[in-house]
Amino acid sequence: MREFFGPLEEFVDEFVALYVYRKYRDPFAVTVATILSQNTTEKNAFRAWRALERYGVTPESVLALGEKLKEIIRPAGLQEQKARAIAEVARSWERLERAVRAGDREELLKVKGVGKKTADVVLMLFGHKAFPVDTHVFRVARRLGWASGNYDAVSAKLSELFEGREAEGHMYLILLGRRICKAKKPECGKCPLADTCPKRVP
Ligand code: SF4
Repeated sequence: MREFFGPLEEFVDEFVALYVYRKYRDPFAVTVATILSQNTTEKNAFRAWRALERYGVTPESVLALGEKLKEIIRPAGLQEQKARAIAEVARSWERLERAVRAGDREELLKVKGVGKKTADVVLMLFGHKAFPVDTHVFRVARRLGWASGNYDAVSAKLSELFEGREAEGHMYLILLGRRICKAKKPECGKCPLADTCPKRVP
């Protein structure tokens, strides 16, 4: 897919968590960006991130915002839920930081506010073996016949398929899902994987 889409560096502005990782290399900031990006478009997640960034994205600064946090991150939607998760993560930032640096998924999942997908995005960006599965990845992997089942099954299968290139595989599958293998009308005529796809629509 690299030949088709070009290098991932050109898409940093389309993945808020990747953008924040490149800019800060900070587990807390990357976790916040990942939470903001859930169930919304990257455009909205970026809007919320930029609004929050003005106040500084550290555990102390985020907790100091109190109720205001919800308003600031409103562009990302689900602000009540996301503000709660961000505050929980801020309160446990030392545990979070240790778990991310060590690549300890089990420990990371013990941090309140961190679900499987968030944990996998953060671990993947910090260079650990993890394959996050979002709605695009799920759909594309199923259509291609690469994986099926629940989150854990799909994640494990894709980790195996993309061993050592998990971040690249994850992001190219998202790009494919967003631009070509769309939920309602996949544009199979433009798809770089059409020759191998059992669900290809003529
Ligand atoms: S051929 Fe069509 S259904 Fe298959 S992955 Fe490509 S766009 Fe999706």
